[in-house]
Amino acid sequence: MTTYHRILLKLSGESLMGHRGYGIDPERLGQYARQIADESARGIQIAIVIGGGNIFRGLSGAAQGFDRVKGDQMGMLATVINSLALCSALEAIGCRSRVLTAINMYPIGEQYSPRKAIECLEAGEVVILAGGTGCPYFTTDTGAALRGVEIKADAMMKGTRVDGIYTADPEKDPTATKFDRITYDEVYRRGLKVMDLTATALCMENDLPIVVFDMDTVGNLAKVLGGEPIGTVVYKG
Ligand code: UDP
Repeated sequence: MTTYHRILLKLSGESLMGHRGYGIDPERLGQYARQIADESARGIQIAIVIGGGNIFRGLSGAAQGFDRVKGDQMGMLATVINSLALCSALEAIGCRSRVLTAINMYPIGEQYSPRKAIECLEAGEVVILAGGTGCPYFTTDTGAALRGVEIKADAMMKGTRVDGIYTADPEKDPTATKFDRITYDEVYRRGLKVMDLTATALCMENDLPIVVFDMDTVGNLAKVLGGEPIGTVVYKG
């Protein structure tokens, strides 16, 4: 059974919406915080990267006429808003947590460095790494892959609303079957949409396994960190 000492948890902004059309659903936020706090209390070092799709995405901004770079900066700020919300929810239930930002925006958060993140993790804090990579034209999946490699995480846990990687989109094709394990090469060969290519390449080149799992079912974070095969593991092979 796989055991994890330090993980990078990627949460999508969209999942934070819960059943709402926009923004943050306090119930979903609370469920995430409770599960993360429990795993942190068990001694697992948890770094988190959250997306911003529930608030703003640079690409959709560009489609509405925004400058792409400005739009992406707005998207990065959206991830900071989500990060602050999660930090506050964690602190509210007694879990020590801290926001580190890719871009200097003290006192909203302290500026990220791999060393600072690792020090906080080793001191038992949950660290939330906000602002993606700090650069436009990237996604938070790439930010999560980069941070995962930098902090030497054992794996990147990608919490989504589906329970793993399928041969086809299970929401559209009822014959789609799920992989328990799959190599990066096969993900690429089959053209499966797990993450964008930049994020996948970064994980592959640095041998960072990805575990795709359904984070919206309460209890799944504990299962996946306990090594239960509930999602799909992507590995180098
Ligand atoms: N973004 C960016 N650089 C990064 C990470 C994110 O420019 O390194 C911007 C980009 O505009 C993106 C938005 O932030 O659309 C929100 O992130 P993402 O779409 O990855 O969020 P998710 O889909 O996970 O909610």
